[in-house]
Amino acid sequence: MSREIIYLDNNATTRVDPAVVEEMLPFLTDFYGNASSGYSFSHKVARALEHARERVAALLGCEPSEILFTSCGTESNNAAIQSALSIDPDRQHVVTTAVEHSSIMKHGEFLAKRGHEVTWLGVDGKGRIDLGELERAIRPDTAIVSVMWANNETGVLSPIHEIAEIVRRKNVLFHTDAVQAVGKIPMAVGESKINFLSLSGHKLHCPKGVGVLYINRRTRFTPYLIGGGQEHGKRAGTENVASIAALGKAAELAGKFMKHEATAVRALRDDFERVVLEAIPDTQVNGDRENRLPNTSNISFEGIESEAVLMLLDKQGVCCSAGSACTTGSLHPSHVLKAMGFSTERARSSLRFSFSRFTTKEEVAKALEILPGVISKLRKMTLAA
Ligand SMILES: *Cc1c(COP(=O)(O)O)cnc(C)c1O
Repeated sequence: MSREIIYLDNNATTRVDPAVVEEMLPFLTDFYGNASSGYSFSHKVARALEHARERVAALLGCEPSEILFTSCGTESNNAAIQSALSIDPDRQHVVTTAVEHSSIMKHGEFLAKRGHEVTWLGVDGKGRIDLGELERAIRPDTAIVSVMWANNETGVLSPIHEIAEIVRRKNVLFHTDAVQAVGKIPMAVGESKINFLSLSGHKLHCPKGVGVLYINRRTRFTPYLIGGGQEHGKRAGTENVASIAALGKAAELAGKFMKHEATAVRALRDDFERVVLEAIPDTQVNGDRENRLPNTSNISFEGIESEAVLMLLDKQGVCCSAGSACTTGSLHPSHVLKAMGFSTERARSSLRFSFSRFTTKEEVAKALEILPGVISKLRKMTLAA
């Protein structure tokens, strides 16, 4: 690399762990057999799939048979909702929140255009949904409730086990987009009332293009991709063996590093946040600071445009984000911060910094050297204008 990158955008994607690359390589070179073939050359490939399934199940705390490999978090989210809607023509109502990732939000908007009723639960100023409102939103014709476990922009956590209980009492399916939560907090999915849970490899130090949908073994599922009998008939298409093996290793490592996330990564985030708040006046942390992922910090800097900050930071090699990656490049304020009741100005003055086990103290120190100067420069320019 010609320039040193300070990578503080781990909620957008993560560095692939070298041990994960190691794990996948044999399936790109020697072991290229199709897992569905009968000869012994393919048995090692088929075994690798099952080994990965066991490793992911161990991370989530469920049975290997409940793990369905998909192509990404987006597919997992889409597949869960489509399956729930295909079960009963009289249950076509969907309940979700106003702060979901675009793979739930845009899908919900798409369904609404097709005549489905969608209830969008709001959040309070800290990004929390109201459980009473959630309960009241569930109707006899509700097919599924989908609430994200951790928000990708603010890191705010929802009480997912409690929500799953409420939804189960109403006899409705419950899905959670746990893409940001997996590997960062313990889950015990098997002891919960969750029917479906989505995760994505590239948010946990695995390559892009592989994900998982957890499907509770007593939950009916209608395949989203139709064709061959792969994944026990639940998802057609030849398995992406190398990436699935990678995800198995990434899941194993995520389990090992979970404590590290809660302590060392959290300490990096907290130190960063403390110094930013001390060094830069008129800054505020966005979202519930108590119930938050240990790696995420969303901060608004009064009077500045986050797009301008991103550009100046980029010149010095600092990677972070304004809201979600999908929002970057457009001037739309974050739908998450807007749903929290923030003014357009405050929403557009917000930046997300997200850390990982690969973030170093040196990177954080460098970012802290650069950021205050960038903010004060932009504020002076705004005053002069
Ligand atoms: C990244 C992300 C997704 C999408 O996962 P892909 O694998 O990129 O499709 C879904 N939900 C959340 C909360 C995310 O952060």
